[in-house]
Amino acid sequence: MANVKIIGLHKKYGAFDAVRGIDLDISDGEFTVLVGPSGCGKSTLLRTIAGLEEASDGTIEIGGEVVNEFRPRDRDVAMVFQDYALYPHMNVAGNIGFGLKARKMPKHEIDQRVMDAARMLGITKLLDRYPRQLSGGQRQRVAIGRAIVRSPRIFLFDEPLSNLDAQLRDEMRGEIKRLHQQIATTMIYVTHDQIEAMTLADRIVLMRDGIIEQQGAPLDLFERPASTFVAGFLGSPKMSFLPGKLLRGENGDAVTLKQTSIPIPAGRTLIDAEDGQAVLLGLRPEHVTRARDAGPEAGHVRYDATIALIQPTGSRSYATFSLDGTPVMAELQAHDVSRPGEQIQIDINMKRASIFDRESERAL
Ligand code: ATP
Repeated sequence: MANVKIIGLHKKYGAFDAVRGIDLDISDGEFTVLVGPSGCGKSTLLRTIAGLEEASDGTIEIGGEVVNEFRPRDRDVAMVFQDYALYPHMNVAGNIGFGLKARKMPKHEIDQRVMDAARMLGITKLLDRYPRQLSGGQRQRVAIGRAIVRSPRIFLFDEPLSNLDAQLRDEMRGEIKRLHQQIATTMIYVTHDQIEAMTLADRIVLMRDGIIEQQGAPLDLFERPASTFVAGFLGSPKMSFLPGKLLRGENGDAVTLKQTSIPIPAGRTLIDAEDGQAVLLGLRPEHVTRARDAGPEAGHVRYDATIALIQPTGSRSYATFSLDGTPVMAELQAHDVSRPGEQIQIDINMKRASIFDRESERAL
């Protein structure tokens, strides 16, 4: 087991800066997820930690030791890839034990480790099969087994579940999380899927254009996004963004849209915010709900809404309405609305709203 410390890391491909100055401190045993849109540099960062790419600048320390000059196999890390990379002519046991055999480990010890890993992953019955005789999920388990038997200091996962169908992905996600709880080894996991990031991570590192946009515990990023980029990336359906102006008054602050003025609850500190500043009000669907009580709760505001679009999911329905010309999505209970055009009252929980400067798109 080991911690990972990355200081001032750059990776250039020719003149192109794929990773542009990353500082990252990962504790021993932590599950870190690198997430971000396609091309943001997350795989490059992971591959540089693995030693499959050479850093252009900066240092990578594993367990307190600078490993920049170490070959991949001397870094004592195990990587699991999206495409499994299994040997087609070897059976499952052969695939899982291959790395140990190459290291000349005694056969009885290899057999023991292969069996332990197979048990952990529930694939003991598959040990004699060949990769072509396995489903995608089973192949991915074999690839993970191959990493486990090496007892590496760090596990690196590069989009390991993206080739699987949705149901299997959910199942494997649970297994990887369980595996981490069981072996408590440092894991760094790359995905572009925000749900995977939210559910797996102790810490999310959200990347954008080769740098870290924000990092922290999943709920910290979700509840206190530093920018519209983070707010829009995490959460499904997405946060609605409403353009408005900040109104600072003796009796409290408000965001004014075209006509509607929405009071900001007292106690909410707005840093460096000026009267008249152009802002974006960020509302997550779950904080926009159907009005139920006689009056709105403290910190909530109530409006009439004409529902334009309903998207039922079974357990709840997402309904879109227009607030001063901007579409806003509300999360309603399944039977709250039945048809487009229906008028209902909705409550907006302003205690949970985000407010961003419209120009810089940073949170206020
Ligand atoms: P994805 O989710 O699509 O895999 P990513 O965030 O993992 O994206 P990277 O694969 O790290 O992104 O790529 C980051 C940038 O570096 C991209 O613009 C990509 O085109 C570029 N890049 C990656 N590998 C190379 C390479 N070998 N040569 C040149 N450019 C590269």
